[in-house]
Amino acid sequence: MLHLHNINSFYGEIQVLREISLHVQRGEIVAIVGANAAGKSTILKSISGTVLKVEGKIEFQGNDLTGIPAHQRTEMGLIHVPEGRRLFPTMTVQENLEMGAYAKRARLDRQKTLDQIYEMLPRLQERKKQQAGSLSGGEQQMVAIGRGLMAKPELLMLDEPTLGLAPIMVQWVFDFIRQIRDSGVTILIVEQNATKALEVADRGYVLENGQIVLEGTGQELLNNQALRKAYLGA
Ligand code: ATP
Repeated sequence: MLHLHNINSFYGEIQVLREISLHVQRGEIVAIVGANAAGKSTILKSISGTVLKVEGKIEFQGNDLTGIPAHQRTEMGLIHVPEGRRLFPTMTVQENLEMGAYAKRARLDRQKTLDQIYEMLPRLQERKKQQAGSLSGGEQQMVAIGRGLMAKPELLMLDEPTLGLAPIMVQWVFDFIRQIRDSGVTILIVEQNATKALEVADRGYVLENGQIVLEGTGQELLNNQALRKAYLGA
């Protein structure tokens, strides 16, 4: 579904990604793990079209994304939920969710998608008229992911969805991610919480200083001694 071929990404003159090649198949959950500043977010930004200078080739559902602006990638079903939630705190939960359905592909189905999200997350339905800023961190993250779902993704890219959340909320988010995949949406997730991410992922990539140093199934990576020492606190 998604193929990155030898991607090099730059902020100005500074090269952050080096020769990144990876792929995501339809129906998978794929995790990218690695330390702070390894370049994980930059991979997602390169795919969604928000990094200005990207060399190499990215293909999504058979289409070469070179030169295609970010909003058009959204119309193709490539949806990016950035780090840090970025909700509108004084708007209600429902208004925040509805903001996600701006893409043409999503507008007509807005009510139906909203009903589906509330069905998956009754807690949000109960709070739909509350200001988003009044929710707990975990609930706000669910709204951010829900807003991504409102755009009707084929591929949903999640950047650090569990950052700063209490353990029980972390589990809730990962359970939700599984549920989303089971509903037919493919997922590419970036996480510093490597253990949890690899537990839910079908496959994973380990990023170090802008390069992929390891790849495998979630289970293979969890069992990898070097990785356990470096990231998993073993
Ligand atoms: P984190 O979890 O801290 O977000 P990350 O693995 O997602 O880490 P990136 O955010 O992709 O890493 O950042 C990779 C490198 O690129 C870092 O050294 C960062 O300082 C740099 N960088 C990120 N965004 C910019 C930018 N807009 N301009 C210049 N440098 C940037």
